[in-house]
This record gives sequence, structure tokens and C-alpha cells, in this order.
Amino acid sequence: MKLYANYHTHTCFCDGQDTPQELVEEALKLGLKVLGFSGHGYTAFDESYCMSQNGTKAYREEIHSLQRQYAGRLTILCGLEEDYQTQEKAEGYDYTIGSVHYVYKNHVYIPVDKDIETLHKAVRDHYAGDVYGLIEDYYQSVADLGRKLHPDIIGHFDLITKFNQQSPWFDETHPRYRKAAQKALQALLPLKLPFELNTGAMARGYRTEPYPATWILQQVLEAGVPIIFSSDCHDRTQLAFGFDQAVALAERMGFQLFHALSDHLAIN
Ligand SMILES: [Zn+2]
Ligand SMILES: [Zn+2]
Repeated sequence: MKLYANYHTHTCFCDGQDTPQELVEEALKLGLKVLGFSGHGYTAFDESYCMSQNGTKAYREEIHSLQRQYAGRLTILCGLEEDYQTQEKAEGYDYTIGSVHYVYKNHVYIPVDKDIETLHKAVRDHYAGDVYGLIEDYYQSVADLGRKLHPDIIGHFDLITKFNQQSPWFDETHPRYRKAAQKALQALLPLKLPFELNTGAMARGYRTEPYPATWILQQVLEAGVPIIFSSDCHDRTQLAFGFDQAVALAERMGFQLFHALSDHLAIN
């Protein structure tokens, strides 16, 4: 089975390293048929990682110009990775990925994927040491992704586990963890939106398995919800990082239907 698409690609318009054109050239080298760009949508409370408001306009113009330039050689999509906490409207994109990167507590936005120290501090400062309190709030936002953002794809469902392999800070088999994740699954699976099988944390050396964990993926499979492979690329040398492993995992588990988002969009 040859993979031919990546729908989760960041550029220098947000926190990625490469220009869109460099990524297009890399996609052609790898033999991809579809390259979906998914710049981080603007969040006013944290501008450190996302596209600026003017940058968003420039990003769209740049992607549209590449679409014309590479027509017939590569299907290029102009998407957006929207954070749950955004105040912006995502209109006019080919698709959106809905992702939770923050827990909002006591008027503070706590990034869950920045570093482990931030999480330890947040648990101390805002949850009186109760890690599962923070995790329950995270999954409450995840559960609400469909209602709030109406995304086309559910991004890295269990991002909250990013540092847990290298610096364990909670037990992924704990009943409160399982219950919180389970409630989010119950809210999202009926929507039948594709879940990412996301290798981004593997590329950056945090994890040896893609998001989400296998027990979650098993429920995605049983619910008949499609998966979509994504590298969450921030560096063109990792545009298809871990895809062989992710495909092998999906095949071993019995996924039959490999979702091609382009089939669901009016793209010529
Ligand atoms: Zn993300
Ligand atoms: Zn991303």
C-alpha cells in the first residue's frame, strides 16, 4: 500500500521551517499525489506559533499561486489547523483540522504540547496537584470540537500524552484518564469525521507510536470511522515521517478503508 497524501503540513507562515514551495518540491520527490497545507489559525492569546492575521492572507495567496503553478503535477490543498480556542472564522479553505492545544482554566490558556514543565506547573497552580483534573478539562474541549469548529478532520486526539512516554506524568490506564477520553470518543465518533493517525511526535522524538493510542484507534475502527495519515510536518525532511510504521499498524489492526480527503472535496 503506497501512501500518497499528507494533509497536515506547516510552513514558515506559522511555526514550520520551510516555504510552501520547498514543501511542494519535497512532495513531488516523495511521489505524493496530494499535499494539504494546514497553517495554524490565528489565536490572539498566543501569537508565538500561529500565522498572523496578515500572514494568513499571504499564506492563502501563496498556496493558491502554487496550485496554479503545479496544476496537473500535484493536488495542492489550502487547509487550516484550527485551535479549539480560536475566535476566528475559518472560511474559504479546502478543509480544516480541529485540534485542542490548550486547556483554558482560571482565565489562563495552558499549552498542553509545549513542555512537561508547563504541565507540572499548571497542575500545581490550577488543579491543586490533581493531574486528572487538567486531563478531564482537555478532553472536555476535545469532545466539543465537532460542535464548535465543524472541522473536516479531528487532529491528534490524545495530544495530552505527548510527553508521557519520556517523562511520565500520569497513568494512561487510570480509570479517570480512560473515562475522560472515552467521553470525548462518545461525542466525536458518531460524527464520522476522520481521525488523524498522526506521526508528528515521532518525528520530533517524543513518541515511538503515532497518536492516538492503540486502544483509542481500536474504537475508531469499530465505529467505522475513517483514519487519515498525517505527519504534522514542520520540517520538509519529515514530510512522510513514520508513515511506513503507521500504515503497518493500521493494516495490522484491520483498517480497510484508507481515507482520501480529496475524494470528499470538489477537487479537479
Ligand atoms: Zn496541532
Ligand atoms: Zn499541526
